[in-house]
Formats: sequence, structure tokens, C-alpha cells
Amino acid sequence: MIDLHSHTNESDGTFTPFELVKLAGERGVEALAISDHDTFAGYDQALPEARKSGLDLVCGIELSTRVPGTKSYTVHLLGYFLRQPPPEEFRAWLDELIDGRRDRNRRLIASLRDKGVDIELAEVERLGRTLTGRPHFARILIDKGYATNFDEAFRRYLGESAPTYVERYAPYVAEAIKRVLEAGGVPVLAHPIRLGLRDAAAEEAFISELRDAGLRGIEVFHSDHRPADMERYGGIARKYNLLVTGGSDFHGDVKPHISLGTGYHENLNIPMAVLNNLRAAA
Ligand code: AMP
Ligand code: FE
Ligand code: FE
Ligand code: ZN
Repeated sequence: MIDLHSHTNESDGTFTPFELVKLAGERGVEALAISDHDTFAGYDQALPEARKSGLDLVCGIELSTRVPGTKSYTVHLLGYFLRQPPPEEFRAWLDELIDGRRDRNRRLIASLRDKGVDIELAEVERLGRTLTGRPHFARILIDKGYATNFDEAFRRYLGESAPTYVERYAPYVAEAIKRVLEAGGVPVLAHPIRLGLRDAAAEEAFISELRDAGLRGIEVFHSDHRPADMERYGGIARKYNLLVTGGSDFHGDVKPHISLGTGYHENLNIPMAVLNNLRAAA
């Protein structure tokens, strides 16, 4: 069993890289990709530990991207670096994305204060390590009694439909695909179910456009996918000659119902062949 999508506390997960490697061992995960948002810090720290414990650790990234002509439509793109570590230029580009988050976080604090929500940037940033994201804001909002759970925090304050929502800089999806390819990575569409496209035809047309932009794979197996979704995305992968990937999107305690390796209510059991195919194509 393998898991090609997970987050550490270097982005918005709650497990340290060390704890995540240990958990993979306990749960019988043979290969694990750390695919933090916008940073390789978790992967870099986990690597020595993974070598010691015999875990096959894969270097990944997850990028939030936008689609031209849409207001706040975001597409998550995974990148897998299977042959060589990502080059310095790519890491420098990630630093720019993290700067964009800092700027967003300052504006988000101001926007919340305008609506009478009394929280400070410093206390939110204290929860983050390499970067501070909206899930960290959610934790503070809950701690301070402004929301009772994550859903409410996003619905009332942080989500795209909330009155206090602020955007952050995000590259266009085609640019992100190009950057991953130039860095020697394999660009993969993350959890396509979250595109939220109304019908299967619109979904397929969109994925086909991404393929024309250089997309190489699609995350068929994911905690959010029902069996019918996995079947549909598997069919699209075959039809468009896209690689198949999959992972739980483990975030630790902030998404407690998702288990490393096995996903949501054991909906995942991803075979090593998926990684072998990815490596062969990289
Ligand atoms: P950021 O990258 O800082 O803008 O935060 C985005 C992250 O917030 C996503 O990767 C999710 O993990 C989380 N998120 C976004 N929307 C929601 C939601 N409605 N409920 C819970 N978590 C969410
Ligand atoms: Fe996340
Ligand atoms: Fe995602
Ligand atoms: Zn993720």
C-alpha cells in the first residue's frame, strides 16, 4: 500500500515530518509522498528518517493555482520529483508564493478586524512553520470562540463566500504546469472532484485542456472520491493517456477522519504499481 499525497506541519498538517515517517511505518505504508503546499521543508526533514526506516519517500508539492477568466476558482496541482531533487530556481519560485501568503495573511487580519474579529497575526503565525495558511487561522478562530469547528470558520470568515475573504496571489494553472515540467517534475491534477464542475462532460473538457497545457497525470484515488468518481477519473486517465496517482491527503488532527494510507473510511488501497508507472514515465 502506498500514499502519494500527505501534508506535514511545515504546511498545514499537524504531524512533524519525523512523526509522519513513523506513522507510515506503523500503518504499513511502503511508499509515501510528502506533498506539502508550497514547500519542500517537510520532505527535506523527513528524508534522513525515511532512509533509516526503509520507507520509500517521494518528493512532492501541492500548488494552488487559478484559471483565467474566473474570479476565485482554484485548482490544486501536484508535482512529483522522481528523478532528481527540484532545482534552486523552482525553490526560489516557491519562496515567492510564500511571500504572497504573508501579504494575504496581513490583509486577512485587517479584514477580520474590520468585522470585529479580534485576532493578531503573530498568534496565527505562531502555529505555522514554513508557512501560515487559512487552516491556522481556523484554529485560532475556534480557540477564541469565533467558530465552533473548521466548517464554520471557513463558512463565516475564511472561505471564498465569506464576507471577510481575501484572495492571495496564485499563478495560472498553465504557468504552474510549465514550472513543474521545467523543474523536471510530473504535474498531476489533485482531487479533481473538488473542481466542482457540474457535469462529467464539463469536467472531462477541462481536464483535456489541462492536458494540452502539459498535465501528465490525474489523482484518481483520493479520500474525497467515491468509488464511482474513481472509476470515472480512471476512464479519463485512460482516454487521455494520463498517469494515474492517488493519496489520502492526510493533514493529521485538522482532518481527523482521514487516515494515512487508507483515506476516508478505508476507501483507499493504492498499489505500488501506481508509483512504478509514475517512475517509469518520469
Ligand atoms: P490557503 O492555502 O492558506 O489559502 O488555505 C487553503 C487550505 O485551507 C486548503 O488546502 C484546505 O486544506 C483548507 N480549506 C479550504 N477550504 C476549506 C473548508 N471549507 N473547510 C476546511 N478546510 C478548508
Ligand atoms: Fe491543506
Ligand atoms: Fe488540495
Ligand atoms: Zn493536499
